[in-house]
Amino acid sequence: MMLRFLRQPSGRLASIFAALLCAMTAVMGSYVYSACQKASADYTTLISDIVLAQQATPQLRTALEEGRRLPSSEQIEYIDYFISLSKQHLNNIKSSIERHRYLISDVEYLNNHFSELNSRLSDLNLKAQKAQQRPELVDPLQRVAMDIGGAQSWLYNQLLEEVRAISVQQRFVMQRLSIAVSVLLALMVSAAITLCLAVIYLHRQRNVMQQLMLTDELTGLYNRRHLVNVASAALTQAQRDNGSLSLMLLDIDHFKQVNDTYGHPTGDEVLRQISKLLRKLSRPSDTLARIGGEEFCLLMPNTTTHDALQVADRLRREIEVNTLSGIDLLANPTISIGVTTCHGGSLTFEQLYSYADKALYQAKALGRNRAESQLPPTEPTPYKNPQAYAHLLISEPIDS
Ligand code: GH3
Ligand code: MG
Ligand code: MG
Repeated sequence: MMLRFLRQPSGRLASIFAALLCAMTAVMGSYVYSACQKASADYTTLISDIVLAQQATPQLRTALEEGRRLPSSEQIEYIDYFISLSKQHLNNIKSSIERHRYLISDVEYLNNHFSELNSRLSDLNLKAQKAQQRPELVDPLQRVAMDIGGAQSWLYNQLLEEVRAISVQQRFVMQRLSIAVSVLLALMVSAAITLCLAVIYLHRQRNVMQQLMLTDELTGLYNRRHLVNVASAALTQAQRDNGSLSLMLLDIDHFKQVNDTYGHPTGDEVLRQISKLLRKLSRPSDTLARIGGEEFCLLMPNTTTHDALQVADRLRREIEVNTLSGIDLLANPTISIGVTTCHGGSLTFEQLYSYADKALYQAKALGRNRAESQLPPTEPTPYKNPQAYAHLLISEPIDS
């Protein structure tokens, strides 16, 4: 069922659309996911770097206060440690900022402060080296170190504020973007569903149209167009199998009188009920069609004249004895039938039809409510074997 749907143009269109939609959904989903991840995870790292760097100054202050009574060489060691730690943090933070291009412009105004801090740390380093030879310089060195620590704290506070503000802004943008993408996806999904429904609807409509084109409105039986199509396929098949193909024409007797006596609507109802009965009685492999006002045709593949005449007689008898429901007729309607057969698809449909029509004419001429056959000259006549066909000399003239 699914494969059959995909083979049709509408099915192919729907599947291409569905595949495109899936691909776009996957791409957008992964984009939104990765964008959200970036916005939160990268800032967390940067913020934690800054917070870590901010701790250098209080650590130095505590160390200097606690180590006041220690020898000056140890105090200089604290300052050296502070310098190397601060430089390390400074480098980390600067390279972290460079990794986030969108951050650079917002914190550009801090560049001078970064350079100044860097050079002040280098300067402090030189002073620390000098102080190793001259212990009297240790006290001023500590003051300068604490000054630099203060400047460093201010700088990192500023930076932290900027990063926090940008992070909040970025998250806000991401949320909006996610909402926009979700809305877009919802729109695409609904467009896809609408398109699929439209394709299914058009497909059904086409089937209904085709059905209407091939069926008769009053009786629901196939019409002449469909019969001709089926007949040409059946003739080809008969040619391939070298099989028999029989055609039967059925005509309601004196139908005009029904219309004249009971009215046209009753005539229509008679046509409907007889059609229903004929459909019920005919084999599924045969094609029953209404080809004219009160004229029907039954195409019977793989059926000899003998078998076709048997079918004809069965139909004729059933119609004759069947009482139509809801219609009060003086007598049940009867039908006359003309049968013909060709072997190996030797005739065209028109030729086959004309032989059946001649047979029907004969049945009418011989008194109606009977079946007659007319065969093409090449076909073996069923009457050549009297034993097999004796009972087929169907002749039950109606009482008139
Ligand atoms: P015969 O036994 O020779 O076939 O006589 P008949 O009266 O059946 O044949 P005739 O061809 O003279 O009349 C056919 C009638 O069928 C005439 C027409 O009004 C009627 N008829 C054709 N189509 C319809 C239809 O759709 N509905 C109704 N109610 N009558 C129809
Ligand atoms: Mg008639
Ligand atoms: Mg007729």
